[in-house]
Amino acid sequence: MFEKNRIITIANQKGGVGKTTTAINLATALAAIGERVLIVDLDPQGNASTGLGIDRRDRKLSSYDLLMGYSDVIGTALETAVPNLSIVPSTMDLLGFESEIAQQPDRAFKLRRALNSEAASTYSYILLDCPPSFNLLTMNAMAAAHSILVPLQCEFFALEGLSQLLETVNQVRQTVNPTLDIQGIVLTMFDSRNNLAQQVVSDVRTYLGEKVYHTLIPRNVRVSEAPSYGKPAILYDLKCAGSQAYLQLASEVIQRERRRKAA
Ligand code: ADP
Ligand code: MG
Repeated sequence: MFEKNRIITIANQKGGVGKTTTAINLATALAAIGERVLIVDLDPQGNASTGLGIDRRDRKLSSYDLLMGYSDVIGTALETAVPNLSIVPSTMDLLGFESEIAQQPDRAFKLRRALNSEAASTYSYILLDCPPSFNLLTMNAMAAAHSILVPLQCEFFALEGLSQLLETVNQVRQTVNPTLDIQGIVLTMFDSRNNLAQQVVSDVRTYLGEKVYHTLIPRNVRVSEAPSYGKPAILYDLKCAGSQAYLQLASEVIQRERRRKAA
């Protein structure tokens, strides 16, 4: 086993809650702090790949090839414009993954096998950007990861979605990954002028306590503009509130990892 790195899956079965934005900007922030980081884009939509400026024509090999064992981390990872940050991009091929492997007994462990390699262990953090559903791709991510990081949008149904997700984590522990840890819950698209959002933050903190990061990711137009330039917000506008929040989140993630290692 190669245990040097930390594999964190960024998951929530809901779409549009900030998974991909968190994958891109947390990864960039970790890389800026000096970590060597890899994103694996597991969403057939490929938003993380596009948001990091990876042209579709350059995606000759993808996370599909990695999952299927047609190629490895070295063969599929592409460098990005961010020093120390690489990505295994996704292509539409991923849409076929589920039906192609559905009958195989090791169908949930394809990614774990692919990431259990010397090449993968040269990254200190590997972030898995999941599709917005609970399917075999998400299952592979949860089976391969040490921990799960959950972006939660500050909205009325947040808690309901969260209890569903925690139920899923329990199922994953009972089946494919008994040691899956919760890295943390990050509240996204927070709007301080909205009373409901304040209420959601306080409810989630009451319900989950220490698991919730102190950092709140604000709703910030610069963050939403950045992907159309193929750049992480941190490169597009370092000073904006969203970029600063993601840098703060990265230091919280690192602190939690230090505490865990010390324990
Ligand atoms: P998911 O991957 O969970 O589907 P995304 O990260 O793609 O979610 O975010 C959904 C939409 O919300 C995108 O258009 C994204 O640019 C926007 N968005 C995400 N986070 C923020 C934020 N902090 N401020 C403003 N817009 C955001
Ligand atoms: Mg996404």
